Amino acid sequence: MSADNICSWCNSTVESSLHVLRDCTDTGQLWGSVINTRYQRDFFNLRTIDDWISWNLKQGKKLEFQMNNGLFMVLCWNIWKRRNERIFEGKSRFNECIIAQAKGMMSCLERVQTKTSSINWYGNGIQNCDLRWKPSETSWVSLCVDGAFSMTMIRRAWEIRICQISRDANVAADHLAKQALDAWLGLHILSFPMESLGRCMDNTYTVNESRV
Ligand SMILES: [Zn+2]
Repeated sequence: MSADNICSWCNSTVESSLHVLRDCTDTGQLWGSVINTRYQRDFFNLRTIDDWISWNLKQGKKLEFQMNNGLFMVLCWNIWKRRNERIFEGKSRFNECIIAQAKGMMSCLERVQTKTSSINWYGNGIQNCDLRWKPSETSWVSLCVDGAFSMTMIRRAWEIRICQISRDANVAADHLAKQALDAWLGLHILSFPMESLGRCMDNTYTVNESRV
């Protein structure tokens, strides 16, 4: 955002979130090319970003809207990314490129969903485990990852449970990830837990225990 808050791309108005994601010149044209014309009046007339996102997520369930919820969010992310690339890197992408990349990302996600449908998920599909961190059961090993995992690893002859840990419960993992920013690339095995990690685990325990 510029010092006077005016959009640095079109120079015509204050750069609000809604302006960046929906109304700025070529972004408006992009949406116009992917949304069924019968929905466009409502789409462009909603006044707040909250109303606009809620409305889109609701419409995204209708087939004739021409855009499902996943594609809507991925397009928003790509539009935001293009805005940052323009400002900070002096690069830009045409609408056609944004749409093609968003559709490509969606088809990758669908492929991952198909591939992982054979995994023996813990319980019924991915679900939140207990909010509070706890040690693994005996003879089990816990691995915390950021959502990326290898299918080759998963397909080995061992029993796997995959579960999602909510953001509220990952203070310790978040701390470790931030520590890793200063480390060299590669596998790091800690012989002893960092002192600072103990405090994070106490916090994780305290924060989540209060919810019980
Ligand atoms: Zn603009």
